[in-house]
Amino acid sequence: MSTIHNFGAGPGILPKTVFEQASQAVLNFNNSGLSLLEMSHRSKDFVAVVDNSVALVKELLNVPEGYSVLFLQGGASTQFMQVPYNLMKQGGKAAYLKTGVWASKAEKEARLFGETVVVASSEDKNYNYIPKEYAIPADVDYFHCTSNNTIYGTQMKSYPNSPVTVVCDMSSDIFSKPVDVSKFGLIYCGAQKNMGPAGVTMVIVKDEILGKTARALPSMMDYTVHIKENSLFNTPPVFAIYVSMLTLEWVKAQGGVVEMAKRNQAKAELLYTEIDRNPLFTCPVANEDRSEMNAIFLLTDESKEEAWNTLCKEAGLHGLKGHRSVGGYRASMYNALPIESVEVLVETMREFERRNA
Ligand SMILES: *Cc1c(COP(=O)(O)O)cnc(C)c1O
Repeated sequence: MSTIHNFGAGPGILPKTVFEQASQAVLNFNNSGLSLLEMSHRSKDFVAVVDNSVALVKELLNVPEGYSVLFLQGGASTQFMQVPYNLMKQGGKAAYLKTGVWASKAEKEARLFGETVVVASSEDKNYNYIPKEYAIPADVDYFHCTSNNTIYGTQMKSYPNSPVTVVCDMSSDIFSKPVDVSKFGLIYCGAQKNMGPAGVTMVIVKDEILGKTARALPSMMDYTVHIKENSLFNTPPVFAIYVSMLTLEWVKAQGGVVEMAKRNQAKAELLYTEIDRNPLFTCPVANEDRSEMNAIFLLTDESKEEAWNTLCKEAGLHGLKGHRSVGGYRASMYNALPIESVEVLVETMREFERRNA
């Protein structure tokens, strides 16, 4: 089988060594003679997996005291609801920065619980930039933003000074670079972009912001219940947590998020430089807001689409098709994607230029 370069947006690429370790754990976990998939989530071995995963998250992101790390289910989409459920006061308000599909879905869910204020939106230009000049009202329960807009290829490079708790959906760039957790009240992510497989959602929450809404919460929706039970209130997604732990161990062994940031910058620079140089491609995203995780590019001549697709296929380039709401192409360059894959993509773009000269 020839090499496949996986640029898929999610579930995304994970390190090969992680796949190998994960398959071993399915066959015989920790030399127990049991598969990870057939053992109690309350066994000593699995509780150690949860504890180690929490410790790795705290270490890699330098999470300050007073924060809890949770492994939940339901994807980032459930957080769209669980966040207002836990943080919006009765008759309360929350502010949202509307930077794409995911941000809009989050805002829509919050409307089930109270009033929302959209402080700014980039919908006027099909979300190809991050709004910068806006004010966050002081009378809202929290401000919600999306760090990396997976579909539109934009990424927040800084965060606003906020008079209220900041909540951030970091699904597609968590662990891609250092982040100052102390600036956030709550961070959440579906694991399947840059942290692990589908099926687990990670939440980092500042304990003191919880329990202030006077709203009765179903247990499964209540962060405080999951904190108290160390993410073992009910049966957790054992395999997804384990594979996330392996991925975080890999990140740590590579040099942590500082090293990830270096590699991700190098990959992104290589690709965007070629997109900007090559007359057959263009990038619709505002320069300063371009995502290091998901690079969007379009063909300048759409009639060449089939020829480009064929060339990509021959080169083993996989998962480049753009999201249906943007069209064109999207190269997702998550942590586990080696720079060699980006080099192959860039070389293929140059070959395409030569053939069309
Ligand atoms: C993929 C994605 C989501 C949706 O995640 P699910 O786990 O499928 O619910 C939400 N936000 C962002 C930024 C994403 O990239």
